[in-house]
Amino acid sequence: MYESPIYLDYNATTPIDRRVRDCMMPYIFGAFGNPASNHIFGREAAAAVEQARHHVARLVNAQPSEIFFTGSATESINLALKGLTHSRQTGGQTIVATMAEHKAVLEVCRQLEEQLNVTYVPVNRPGNIDLRELARRVPLRRTLLVSLMAANNEIGTLYPIREAAEIAHRSGALFFTDATQAVGKIPVDVRADNVDLMAFSAHKLYGPKGVGALFVCGGRSKIALRPLIAGGGQEQGLRGGTLNVAGIVGFGEACRIAKEVMHDEAARLSRLRNLLEERLLPLSNVSVNGDVRRRLPNTTNLCFHGVDATNLIREIGDVAVSTRSACSSQSGTPSHVLKAIGLCDRCACASIRFSLGRFTTEEEIEETARRITAAAVPRLHACRSH
Ligand code: PLP
Repeated sequence: MYESPIYLDYNATTPIDRRVRDCMMPYIFGAFGNPASNHIFGREAAAAVEQARHHVARLVNAQPSEIFFTGSATESINLALKGLTHSRQTGGQTIVATMAEHKAVLEVCRQLEEQLNVTYVPVNRPGNIDLRELARRVPLRRTLLVSLMAANNEIGTLYPIREAAEIAHRSGALFFTDATQAVGKIPVDVRADNVDLMAFSAHKLYGPKGVGALFVCGGRSKIALRPLIAGGGQEQGLRGGTLNVAGIVGFGEACRIAKEVMHDEAARLSRLRNLLEERLLPLSNVSVNGDVRRRLPNTTNLCFHGVDATNLIREIGDVAVSTRSACSSQSGTPSHVLKAIGLCDRCACASIRFSLGRFTTEEEIEETARRITAAAVPRLHACRSH
């Protein structure tokens, strides 16, 4: 009898790695200096922040001077999109974003609709974009920014960001990617992909909550961004406020570890994810949402046709999976991503995201498959007989 809770919601957030915690501790209880202070306490904290910046930059092949610390990926996204819009007062410009972006991007775009045109590019059934369609929707010399996420948080689909960046640049636009789900899970290389602006977050890669980063290609002098938070000149004047030293140190250590283990971890997690699918897909009326050929190694989103996902989850005990994409989420509406890939409300409400991570074991996967099978089979059969 398996009794411990099973956590399969790593795309929502990850537990802090023990090594990350150990690195953070001295900056919570001991080295408390303000990194902006010009004395030994301040210099000690500043050195730790710069060491962390180096590790974060290295993971994505950036220069440390191109990494700006924020409070979350959401804040980084706001800073990129609003900061850019508000630094250019030319008018008549367009931002192009896909319909499968995270709400953190879509809601900022909705706000910016008051100042400029926003074009939303549809996605296809696997959740991906048609690059020719994207190119058609990027007006020459009138596009400020093209936004395409690196990996989708709900279905795991990976996007062709290098090609999208090329389309953006050909039209004279900048390219932004929300890489919150990609960094630490798959290789991300801002130089190879020609990314101008990129947002990501520590708590998705075994770092602490409350720390994010914005990559700005060439730094502040190359891309003008208006700060959202004005203040004491921290982060080269781009983000005011005393730095979260312990959090940033944790982010740095999380990135250092990710660089070391990512390759093997991805192989192990895709094997476990495939095992879960091998157990569940043979059940009648179960299918995968998203692009099975190009997706995150740790993610699967399964539709249990005709079954209410919320009821199903209630029956499998303490297995933490994501119901956010189901209709019973706090908003009460089906996931915009599942709707964007063409699922009807009923199928969106029958879908569950499983996202695996560093501490997932084979035993947990087998147990989850057993519980889902036991709970789903009677319902799937009932559905077939309708
Ligand atoms: N973008 C994506 C793709 C995400 O998955 C998330 C978090 O779920 C965010 C942005 C927001 O990240 P944060 O919680 O750091 O603001």
